[in-house]
Amino acid sequence: MAALDDNLRKAEAYLERFRKDGVLNQIGGEAVPSADGSTFETLSPVDLKPIATVARGKAADIDRAAKAAKAAFKDWAAVSGDARKKLLHKIADAIVARAEEIAFVECMDTGQSLKFMAKAALRGAENFRFYADRAPEARDGRSLRAPGQLNMTTRVPIGPVGVITPWNTPFMLSTWKIAPALAAGCTVVHKPAELSPLTARLLVEIAEEAGLPKGVWNLVNGFGEDAGRALTEHPDIKAIGFVGESRTGSMIMKQGAETLKRVHFELGGKNPVIVFADADLERAADAAVFMIYSLNGERCTSSSRLLVEASVHDRFTDLVAEKAKRIKIGHPLDPETVVGPLIHPVHEEKVLSYIEIGRSEGAVVAAGGGKFAGPGGGCYVSPTLFVGATNKMRIAQEEIFGPVLTAIPFKDEAEALALANDTQYGLTGYLWTSDVTRALRFTDALDAGMIWVNSENVRHLPTPFGGVKSSGIGRDGGDWSFDFYMETKNIAFATAPHSIQKLGG
Ligand code: NAD
Repeated sequence: MAALDDNLRKAEAYLERFRKDGVLNQIGGEAVPSADGSTFETLSPVDLKPIATVARGKAADIDRAAKAAKAAFKDWAAVSGDARKKLLHKIADAIVARAEEIAFVECMDTGQSLKFMAKAALRGAENFRFYADRAPEARDGRSLRAPGQLNMTTRVPIGPVGVITPWNTPFMLSTWKIAPALAAGCTVVHKPAELSPLTARLLVEIAEEAGLPKGVWNLVNGFGEDAGRALTEHPDIKAIGFVGESRTGSMIMKQGAETLKRVHFELGGKNPVIVFADADLERAADAAVFMIYSLNGERCTSSSRLLVEASVHDRFTDLVAEKAKRIKIGHPLDPETVVGPLIHPVHEEKVLSYIEIGRSEGAVVAAGGGKFAGPGGGCYVSPTLFVGATNKMRIAQEEIFGPVLTAIPFKDEAEALALANDTQYGLTGYLWTSDVTRALRFTDALDAGMIWVNSENVRHLPTPFGGVKSSGIGRDGGDWSFDFYMETKNIAFATAPHSIQKLGG
């Protein structure tokens, strides 16, 4: 309790500036209100009280920001890779120096618990360091020889880009999308989610204080249907890096069609964790519980479908249910809290409605199953486990994006694979087995962009991140992000005086 009180005092001190001055846009290096003076409130999911008034950008603000990004592009693209590397490391250092502030503000704006957010800033700094180190080689290409010809490929930054991020872990995701864009030499207009805009403001300030030139990174707050839409339609914006729901991705594709926008989509998931009887069941249960109940279940890579071999199904789901019941729900700033309040009452209602849908479809609640009366009276939902479900049920097919897990038994490997692939999504899969041949066979046939065997999601930044089917288009991580933010050019040199056809004499 003393730790929570202490943290609340610190959080208030960090939030004071937002309460007093609101959250402004950042365009061409200036903190500005929206062009027409519109604002909206960001609420804390803990007590549903407003934290700050936020500038509500629309098409005119996006236009200013896109023009600022365009004006800054030529000079930023011309900065050497080594100089970009140094600057991005300075941004990473500054993020680390303000890690506590970032974590506390993120907790209060999103409801995510400090247990996980304490590391969010450090992970964000790692994203900057990873791409800082690669900036000097971003333009490198290949040389491809042919008789009488030497081809040289090179990459150049595509131009000003738009980055649109969701509300679940906004700080980490913004760094993940923006750091490679800057390292590639692109300038950026960032439109963060309207439900959790605070740390995006901290991030752009940190970058400019570290020395990022004005206009290289612009921030426009606002709603998807006006600011987001205008960004995807703007002719000066060459590409859109988007993280969010699958149906929003589809809208963005339509909106960007007119200007032939390059798009990169990281979308939703209904990710299976598949547990065979020969697995280490205790470790598999810990991993399944971690992957669905950490980050409030508001996690694209969460393992929201639990497929268990029938012979161990009851034993395994009992284990998961016991663990789920023991999870501490509470104030996000309480260091003991695992599950905090969900982002917003509308989202809470969606998650609770799925719990009712599960019951009405005939599934049985083995843990949780409803609202939790947490501190502040906010959007708390108990970690929930459904058993007795089938893969046809809506709770097995639709992304709930909350702490709700649906368990389904399977009789053999063929059925496990059929169930795992029977969804519109294909972001991640988690396979638990001690049979290595089966693991090779199964992962080969599983529809997912990322698969972990005998492990929860442990990210290694050089590896590709992204999904198949409705879970996304394109990959981040390693060099893949540069491929998105850069154009590849080929230059062919004649190395011998080859004969040229003479037309017209
Ligand atoms: P969302 O799609 O509702 O919103 C995401 C962003 O898009 C917000 O900034 C929003 O303002 C903007 N937006 C909305 N409509 C728009 C439009 N017409 N044009 C342009 N922009 C628009 O998603 P959300 O509810 O904020 O986030 C949750 C979703 O994000 C889940 O589906 C989750 O799986 C997904 N997600 C995916 C990943 C991943 O890496 N695959 C990571 C985190 C979250």
